[in-house]
Amino acid sequence: MTGRLAIRLDAGCVSGVTEVSVSNGSCLASKGMYSGKAIAQVQINTPKKVLSVMGNALQPRVDGSASPVEVLAIQPNPSRVTFVKMDQVEGIVPLPEAEKVVSAGRGMKGPENWGIIEELAAELGATTACSRPVADSDWRPHHEHVGQTVIAIRPNLYIAIGISGAIQHLAGVNRSKVIVVINKDPEAPFFKAADYGVVGDLFDVVPRLTQAIRDMKAAG
Ligand SMILES: Cc1cc2nc3c(=O)[nH]c(=O)nc-3n(C[C@H](O)[C@H](O)[C@H](O)COP(=O)(O)OP(=O)(O)OC[C@H]3O[C@@H](n4cnc5c(N)ncnc54)[C@H](O)[C@@H]3O)c2cc1C
Repeated sequence: MTGRLAIRLDAGCVSGVTEVSVSNGSCLASKGMYSGKAIAQVQINTPKKVLSVMGNALQPRVDGSASPVEVLAIQPNPSRVTFVKMDQVEGIVPLPEAEKVVSAGRGMKGPENWGIIEELAAELGATTACSRPVADSDWRPHHEHVGQTVIAIRPNLYIAIGISGAIQHLAGVNRSKVIVVINKDPEAPFFKAADYGVVGDLFDVVPRLTQAIRDMKAAG
C-alpha cells in the first residue's frame, strides 16, 4: 500500500519504521533488519516522503501543550475501485491489528489443552497466537503463528504461555508494549524480554489468572 502511494506521489518510501528524525527537509528513518538484530538507517532525500510506522513504535508526546488542528477541505476524486464486500470472522481481531494477544507454545503439551488459552483470551478480549512448532504440528492454525518466519506484531499486551523465547519467536513479538511470560523454567530466555514474569506451571497459573480477571470484572 505505501509502495503504491509512493509511486503515485513520486516519493521516497520506507516501511516498518521504528524511529524518525527530520532536519532541514531531510528525513532519517530507522527500521529493524535481520530479525531485529541490526538497525538500518535510511535517508530519504526526495521532497515527498511516505513512511509506514510499526505499531507502538512512536509514543504520543505528553507535555500538556495544546496541539494545533489543521482542517483540510479535500475533495477526493471519485475512486476507480468499487467496494464489493468484506468477509470478516465475527468477534476476532486479526493478529496484526490486535491490541492484546494471548500466545501459547509447546508447553501446552497438545491441542486438546487450548481451552484455558481461549478462555483467558476471551476474558481479556484478546486474539490468540502461537509459536511455530505449534502451528507446524497442526495444534493451531497457521494464521496464529508469529515470529521471524511469518508476521511481526506489536500489541499493547503480549502474554506468552509455555513459550521458551527463542530468538526467531522474539523477533516477531519483542516490540510489544508490555510482555508477560508464564513458564515453569526460570531460565527460559523469554524472561529476559519480559516486563512481568510468572514462574509456574501454566496449567495452574492460567486458570487462576482467568478467574482473577473474572473476579475483578465482577467487582467492577
Ligand atoms: C529458520 C527458523 C525460523 C523460525 N521461525 C520461527 C518463528 O517465526 N516463530 C517461532 O515461534 N519459532 C520459530 N522458529 C523455531 C524456534 O527456534 C523455536 O524452536 C520455537 O519458537 C520454540 O517453540 P516453543 O517455545 O513453543 O517450544 P519449546 O522451545 O519446546 O518451549 C516450550 C516452553 O514451555 C515451557 N513449559 C513446558 N511445560 C510447561 C508448563 N507446564 N508450564 C509452564 N511452562 C511450560 C518450557 O519450559 C519451555 O520454555 C524458527 C526456527 C528456525 C530455525
